[in-house]
Amino acid sequence: MAVTKTAVVTGGGSGIGKAIAERLTADGHQVAVLDLNPTGSFFGQKADVTDPDQVNGALDAVRQELGPVTILVNAAGLDGFNRFDRIDFAAWKRVIDVNLNGVYHCIQAALPDMVEAKWGRIVNISSSSAHSGQPFMAHYVAAKSAVNGLTKALALELGPRGITVNAVPPGFIDTPMLRGAEAKELLGGTVEDHIKRTPVRRVGRPEDIAAACSFLISEDAGYITGQILGVNGGRNT
Ligand code: NAD
Repeated sequence: MAVTKTAVVTGGGSGIGKAIAERLTADGHQVAVLDLNPTGSFFGQKADVTDPDQVNGALDAVRQELGPVTILVNAAGLDGFNRFDRIDFAAWKRVIDVNLNGVYHCIQAALPDMVEAKWGRIVNISSSSAHSGQPFMAHYVAAKSAVNGLTKALALELGPRGITVNAVPPGFIDTPMLRGAEAKELLGGTVEDHIKRTPVRRVGRPEDIAAACSFLISEDAGYITGQILGVNGGRNT
């Protein structure tokens, strides 16, 4: 029987993050969601991951209500599509801020609890685009690649303290983010077109990512750290 722990899932108001929050609840954890728009039946905290004061305030509220935060899943994310020469510096900085600096702020805020407990699990949701590259998403791909690098560096640093750090880069998961890109004709074809090019011949489900997170957070995964576990139907190998 797993011991109940407290998990914070950023971006848990929608799509992949929401499915992760649901799965971790089913696994027996107490789950708080940190999102610009927290929804669902979880302990919700409205906060912007780019603002350290808001992140720290949210983490304090979670600690008070649910206890020390020893599981953190960073799923909040913001995509962006433009030709590189049309990505102005403000757009570049915003995408880096949400996808990379947000991860920094959330890990900084949760880490003391994990260090104190001598146990922790951090899972960063990056992107298969960091693996393959993706035209018109230079800022996003740069940020997600940095998240993979951060994952590897922190795994080495935090392993001796009982904390594992892994990344799950999703590829092609059916969420509002993906359908929004499809509606704007930014996917290079429809979702159906992409399914034909996906080895397992289906679009990914948020639950596929949640299952990988559940495993990486479990005691069974205690010897797995610094890994980038692609969940992409075989689109990237
Ligand atoms: P989504 O848009 O459905 O959900 C993203 C959530 O993040 C939303 O609830 C949003 O409110 C929240 N969010 C955005 N900016 C925030 C901020 N500044 N502070 C707090 N919360 C914020 O998207 P999704 O498809 O579920 O994506 C989840 C993660 O998976 C993202 O990091 C995304 O980059 C990554 N991803 C998704 C896919 C895919 O195919 N859907 C592929 C690769 C990577």
